[in-house]
Amino acid sequence: MAATESDEVPSIPKFLMDCSAKDIALNWLQATDLTRDVYQHLAYYVPKIYCRGSNPNPLNEEMLAQHILLGPMEWYLCAEDPAVGITKLEKANKSSQLCGRVFKIGEPTYSCRDCAVDPTCVLCMECFLASVHRAHRYRMTTSGGGGFCDCGDTEAWKQGPYCLKHKPTVSGAMEEDPLAHLPEDMIGRAYNIFAITFKYAVDMLTWVEEDRLPSGLEPPEKEDTYYCMLFNDEVHTYEQVIYTLQKAVNCTQKEAVSFATTVDRDGRRSVRYGDFQFCEQAKTVIVRNTSRQTKPLKVQVMHSSVVAHQNFAIKLLIWLSQVIGYSGGLRRILCEVGLQQRPDEEGSSLIDKLMLCDSKLWKGARNIYHQLFMSSLLMDLKSKKLFAVRFAKNYPQLQRDFMEDDHERVVSVTALSVQLFTVPTLNYERLQTDYVNDDHDREFSVTDLSVQIFTVPSLARILITDENLMTTIIQTFMDHLMRQRDSHGRFQFERYTAIQAFKFRRVQSLIGDLKYVLVSKPTEWTDKLREKFLEGFEVFLQLLKRMQGMDPVTRQVGQHIEMEPEWEAAFTLQMKLTHIISMIQEWCASDERVLIEAYRKCLIVLLQCHSGPCDGEQPITLSMCGHTLESVQYRVSQHQVSIHLPVSRLFSGLHVLLSKTEVAYRFPELLPLSELSPPLLIEHPLHCMVLCAQVHAGMWRRNGFSLVNQIYYYHNVKCRVEMYDKDLIMLQAGASMMDPNHFLMIMLCRFELYHIFNSLDYGKRFNSEHTNKDVLQQNNTLIEEMLHLTMMVVGERYTAGVGHVSAEEELKREIVHQLCIRPMAHSELVKALPEDENKETGMEKVIESVASFKKPGLTGRGLYELKPECTKEFNVFFYHYSRADQSKAEEAQRKLRKQNGEDTALPPPVLPHFCPLFASLVNILQSDVYVYILRTVLQWVVEPNGHAWTESMLQRVLHLIGMALQEEKQQIESATADSDFTFNFTSKFSRPGEAPENTPSILAMLETLQNSPHLEVYKDMIKWILKLFGIVKKMRERTSSAPVVETEGHGVEECIRDKDKADRKRKAEIARLRREKILAQMSEMQRHFIDENRELFQQTLEELEASSSTAPDNSPIVPDAALIALGPKQTRVFEKKQVVTCILCQEEQEIRINNKAMVLASFVQRSTVLSKNRARTIQDPDNYDPLFMHPDLACGTHVGSCGHIMHAHCWQSYFDAVQAKEQRRQQRLRVHTSYDVENGEFLCPLCECLSNTVIPLLPSPRSPLNSDNSKNCTGLPALSRWLKCTLQQLNVLKKIQEKQTVPDNLPNTILEGMEVPEGFEPDVKPKNPYSDSIKEMLTTLATATYKVGLKVHPNEQDPRVPIMCRGSCAYTMQAIERFLADEEKPLFGHLPCRQDDCLKALTRFAASQWTVSSVSVVQNQYARLLSVLIPDDNTPIPPSILDVDMFHLLVSLVLSSPALHCHDFTGVSLAVGHLHLFHLVTMAHIVQILLTSSTEDNNMDQESADGVEEAAALTVFDKLRQYSGSALNSMSSGWHLWQYIKTGIMPYLRCSALFFHYLNSVPVPVELQENRPHHFELLCRYLSLPTNLMSLFQTENETIEPLMQRWCGVAEVQSFVKRERTAISYPRESNKLIELPDDYSCLINRASCFTCPKSGGDKSRAPTLCLVCGGMLCSQSYCCQTELEGEDVGACTAHTYTCGCGVGIFLRVRESQVLFLAGKTKGCFYPPPYLDDYGETDQGLRRGNPLHLCKERYRKLQKLWQQHSITEEIGHAQEANQTLVGIDWQHL
Ligand SMILES: [Zn+2]
Ligand SMILES: [Zn+2]
Ligand SMILES: [Zn+2]
Ligand SMILES: [Zn+2]
Ligand SMILES: [Zn+2]
Ligand SMILES: [Zn+2]
Ligand SMILES: [Zn+2]
Repeated sequence: MAATESDEVPSIPKFLMDCSAKDIALNWLQATDLTRDVYQHLAYYVPKIYCRGSNPNPLNEEMLAQHILLGPMEWYLCAEDPAVGITKLEKANKSSQLCGRVFKIGEPTYSCRDCAVDPTCVLCMECFLASVHRAHRYRMTTSGGGGFCDCGDTEAWKQGPYCLKHKPTVSGAMEEDPLAHLPEDMIGRAYNIFAITFKYAVDMLTWVEEDRLPSGLEPPEKEDTYYCMLFNDEVHTYEQVIYTLQKAVNCTQKEAVSFATTVDRDGRRSVRYGDFQFCEQAKTVIVRNTSRQTKPLKVQVMHSSVVAHQNFAIKLLIWLSQVIGYSGGLRRILCEVGLQQRPDEEGSSLIDKLMLCDSKLWKGARNIYHQLFMSSLLMDLKSKKLFAVRFAKNYPQLQRDFMEDDHERVVSVTALSVQLFTVPTLNYERLQTDYVNDDHDREFSVTDLSVQIFTVPSLARILITDENLMTTIIQTFMDHLMRQRDSHGRFQFERYTAIQAFKFRRVQSLIGDLKYVLVSKPTEWTDKLREKFLEGFEVFLQLLKRMQGMDPVTRQVGQHIEMEPEWEAAFTLQMKLTHIISMIQEWCASDERVLIEAYRKCLIVLLQCHSGPCDGEQPITLSMCGHTLESVQYRVSQHQVSIHLPVSRLFSGLHVLLSKTEVAYRFPELLPLSELSPPLLIEHPLHCMVLCAQVHAGMWRRNGFSLVNQIYYYHNVKCRVEMYDKDLIMLQAGASMMDPNHFLMIMLCRFELYHIFNSLDYGKRFNSEHTNKDVLQQNNTLIEEMLHLTMMVVGERYTAGVGHVSAEEELKREIVHQLCIRPMAHSELVKALPEDENKETGMEKVIESVASFKKPGLTGRGLYELKPECTKEFNVFFYHYSRADQSKAEEAQRKLRKQNGEDTALPPPVLPHFCPLFASLVNILQSDVYVYILRTVLQWVVEPNGHAWTESMLQRVLHLIGMALQEEKQQIESATADSDFTFNFTSKFSRPGEAPENTPSILAMLETLQNSPHLEVYKDMIKWILKLFGIVKKMRERTSSAPVVETEGHGVEECIRDKDKADRKRKAEIARLRREKILAQMSEMQRHFIDENRELFQQTLEELEASSSTAPDNSPIVPDAALIALGPKQTRVFEKKQVVTCILCQEEQEIRINNKAMVLASFVQRSTVLSKNRARTIQDPDNYDPLFMHPDLACGTHVGSCGHIMHAHCWQSYFDAVQAKEQRRQQRLRVHTSYDVENGEFLCPLCECLSNTVIPLLPSPRSPLNSDNSKNCTGLPALSRWLKCTLQQLNVLKKIQEKQTVPDNLPNTILEGMEVPEGFEPDVKPKNPYSDSIKEMLTTLATATYKVGLKVHPNEQDPRVPIMCRGSCAYTMQAIERFLADEEKPLFGHLPCRQDDCLKALTRFAASQWTVSSVSVVQNQYARLLSVLIPDDNTPIPPSILDVDMFHLLVSLVLSSPALHCHDFTGVSLAVGHLHLFHLVTMAHIVQILLTSSTEDNNMDQESADGVEEAAALTVFDKLRQYSGSALNSMSSGWHLWQYIKTGIMPYLRCSALFFHYLNSVPVPVELQENRPHHFELLCRYLSLPTNLMSLFQTENETIEPLMQRWCGVAEVQSFVKRERTAISYPRESNKLIELPDDYSCLINRASCFTCPKSGGDKSRAPTLCLVCGGMLCSQSYCCQTELEGEDVGACTAHTYTCGCGVGIFLRVRESQVLFLAGKTKGCFYPPPYLDDYGETDQGLRRGNPLHLCKERYRKLQKLWQQHSITEEIGHAQEANQTLVGIDWQHL
């Protein structure tokens, strides 16, 4: 067994190192048969360098290949040292005007919407920034990889093709022959070496044998070493491959993952190395394991030398593209070598060979040679054309191979040809792929040559004329679909399975190519182009013919269809072709001859389509109102009908063009107009319309959803342009050529309504009871639909060619109608408008004229609002409205009119005139049948107890009447003296129906209806009609005598309107009075309610007061200046009785020490928000000592609360219930919740805020504990005396403890022989005054802070519990102080209630917590804390003064001091102790500040002369210098020092003020509640400090000097002053989220340069930016998963544990999306702080509008973070959207 598992790097044999590139090259230069010599060299060395073991060893291989293989080639090429030769080449080279930068995956690309010839023309960032397009409308996308920058390509840009860098310096430089710069002999050598190496590479890459090499390359000695090579396919999943590999080659999962990743990336990977049998074995297992369901994975056992040569061949291609990069001449030579026809190979070139083998190559190889093509053939303009021709010639073959291949198209050479998934088209593709439910992985693309070739207008033209490319593509396309046809030759697609979809998508890529060919319309036509285009057009018609009538449906009666028929494939095809069809029409429109010819050809094919069977049976005779007509007997509800009519629709498109281009009027003799049969033309489109109506009427219910879907897409904005819209145009075209009466009769007949309107007593018949309700309803709906269609045929004139409108007016009308529904964001509007092939809607051009833009606030997006003057264009029956849109718009518009005090009639708008070709359509409005229909419906309405009508019917009839009257009015107005108008509706309007119906006239009926009580909604409309009728009648009368005076007409109208207005005003006044009365009544009722519940109200008010005002109102009135927060002079306050209500049981309770506990829901979390050192984490939580907080505040514990109060017992039973429920639910459903019950999490029962513990509410700790022994204090001890006394007391306690540990000592003998200070009674046991319930809650919160803060298991006994409690209090205060400072808010009075309540409760809790801990433990901690300041030889060595956060120290000392004081009966109050401790810590902090001051960079100018403070500061500083061994810089300016101290100490003073305020409940002077300048003095006074802080050092001189001396003598401080270490300096700056660039593309660019840190230079798929520290991570990927607490987690989750204590804020750069993470299970997405010009975010970067940083939104994000609200935000997001809970956040 040759199981060589040697992972070691084999040492490099000496003979390899001894090779000399120069010697080899010199031999070659002399060689007679160079090919033979080079091959010999390669045959010998390649297998010795490459593939020497089971694992590739790229470093060695690379190095040796360069040394032995490539080195000689470079030498040969230059005929001198390449280092010299290449430099010469580069110097001589003219830099190319083409940028040609090949895009990396994720790199930003830019396209100019104004200047790019098509959207595939893109620029790299560098070129873009230096181009004129920067100031244009541009679109930004991230590249999928592949493709290159088009800067410098004059054919790609309408203007500004060059950026500043690529601007040609000398004109005409482009045409210069690149070979001119090369010496003759070098040209020869280059040809030689390129020809050999390129052929070698091509031969090796396309080599298919596994065990043999091409002749001349056979190795001298052949070993039995093989590789088992695994290839990738698109069938097997990652998991399948990993599983199989573990079995087959016996590897670990990790190795298998690595294999699979490489196979996926490179397309192949050796999975085993060894002798033949060994490899064969693995192959068998793999094949066996993967062949069960599908075709097996491809595996080959290849000889190592074959693999070696293939690897080198790839290396060689890379080398070639590198070498040609040095010189345009070399590039040209390589292209020529590649394109040269080779006589021995049937005239094909090396490039042909590579291309044609493309589908057989593995991905890695394809990538490399595609890149070579791009850097060679496509960068050389001459070769590009030659290559394009080769490409077009090979096209059918390439496509055929590609179709059979199951690899990703993106790495196929046809993707060279196109690549639908290339960058610029990415967004467009997504829309479509969403629809077919595409997989997204395929978007990773590598190259796109067809885009490069086909979109160059000159090339595309050549390819169409010379290579007949258009026909070729369409023909290829048809060939591939040939198999899928029904008996009539129409396409019939199989069920749309995933594999089907995959294959189908490949076929569609051809459509993409066709699109590229057509994308730029010709400006000049040649005869050849006409000929070839029309040839292509004809083939295209054949394609459409196969689509005409596909997927026909027949109405299902009786039972429901058994299986939903396939429909998606056909629609996908239609959608893909939509733009092609539109583009072909545009091509036709650009040349009269082409248009005429195309029209003829299309008509022929259309007539062929109609000659088919099943179009109808016996002709029938229709007659109505004296008009008679023969028609076919066809019923949509009985016969086959298809929604696919592309030929008819193309024809109708061309027909409109005849009108638009006026060809119809200029060359009527050339057109086959006489061959048209109007009834035939309208037949199929009418079927489609009727089908929709019938589906809507519920007649096709049994045909299932597939039909509903088809109808939906038929109208959808993506399809309608070439479906629905064109059908309508066809109806208009047909009707315009027919007798309007005949048209309407056919319509009635097809709607199956003919008999209804032809039977006199239809209306009456339905009075009887035995009518079928369903049938009645069906008929009603059909009548409504038929009326609507009539409206559209006559009224829809906003298509250029149908009506006299411009494209802008058409678009404006669309926008107006969208905005009539509601104000919309830019992206919403874009979605509602059809896009052209360049994804443009053209909206920007017109939007300003119809809408005004409203900017967004901190949330939401910018909106467009319709300008008020545009509402008059509103047509409630606008043909693009869906039913939902229509009713929404109608409602909105009626409401608007009411608000403006106008009538609510929604009359038809004034319409543009028809073009001459369609002009006769207006006659429908005055035709007999039309009037008859209107009159009939009205008759039904008028009839008493009629059931045969609906309000919608009436509304439509009124609208139609209005349209007719409008038309007449318009005609009269525009009629000139000589042109008479013929339109006359008014006469029919007032004429009664003739026998036999004998109906009253329309006028009469309307007048009747006007007074009908049940038609309130339509009264305004009827009134409007009658008024208009009056006006028109008057105008008619006048025109018969005199010309119309238009203003008079208006005058009448206005007069009526005025009267209306007055009427309305009166009514409004009445309404107002009524409203007022009701309001008065209501407020009376309210007052009554308050009276009844007075108590309740009072209480609520009091509660509000209690929590919002910081000054209890019943405390003695003290002048603000005298308010002092601590110490013996502390202002006395008597706390008011506090009564609160439980949110759960609604009972109220007073907060007292002996009452049941009340608690606040709260959330404890670890935090690094204040951290100045993110590298520091708690490594070993079980042994971590948290007693001293380091001044870098690396990790703290934060407590927050929503402020909602509950009884402790109510909360407990609530929590138990939640817990029980969740356990049941998890067992049953295995679903997650947004909170982790097992970790004690729950949601606040009132506000659903995430919580994990509760804070007990306590009365002020002063009252019960301290008031007793502080009363009789007389003389206050000085600091020194107090200190001495305290140390003595601690000493006693220590000795007692030592004795206690000796087991023999009896408790009563302990104090014997000890000197106990007077008044100190160590054996007094303090009595805990709190009720059991409160005690329990004290323990609960204490345990929670301990558990969360240290991330350990709860343990009530742990001595660290009290430390964590005090620490969390200090940390929370520091966090809040920082936040207030950053927000520039005053320290007091501006906190929200909930934070105020939380801080108060938290402080009191921390002050009382010692009562439930072991007193001796707290005493010990007190002693240790004190030892930082007063060094004590007995305790463990404390950290130096530089390494302690002084505020934490202060809080800890003050809060643990009661544990000592409870034994003190000397009469010295606790308050005295607090003050001394505070002074001492403050002085220590000043020393800390002075030691760390870096006054060098303080450039402030001294503002005033040195005063007392300044002098004192200088004195202290000098002393420090002296004590620290003069290592500190000397300072001469006391002023600067004092300034430094003042700013440095400010945060500490502010925190202290907060702390003592909440601890002692002393109200705050009003000045501190405002932003005022003299804060410093105010704070000092409030904190009982001298305003001259430095005077502390003078008063306490004897105590502090020796202390300072000792502090400075400590080793750590010594090493600091010697600059051997650093320390935090003050004030600490607040942490902010990282700075983000204004332009989002900077970020994209940064991310695209980022490579995965683990997989050696690979691009990261989801680069994600940590907004806290700025680190870039490789998220959501196998490669960067790490293990965390026994689970695999993604890079982001892992990062949160080091950067944010489990909480993280990230920006997913590719998605433009903010990600919040908390712990492993919680996360949510959040809108990014980047907005486009329309005030919208672009999550997923789908739209590509330029994005800019919105500072306000980013600040909001930062605030969330600073306030520790991220977790809370996630909780709310997850509660609101349950799908977020199911996401595996830890994998991100
Ligand atoms: Zn560029
Ligand atoms: Zn450029
Ligand atoms: Zn531009
Ligand atoms: Zn309660
Ligand atoms: Zn709450
Ligand atoms: Zn970070
Ligand atoms: Zn990675």
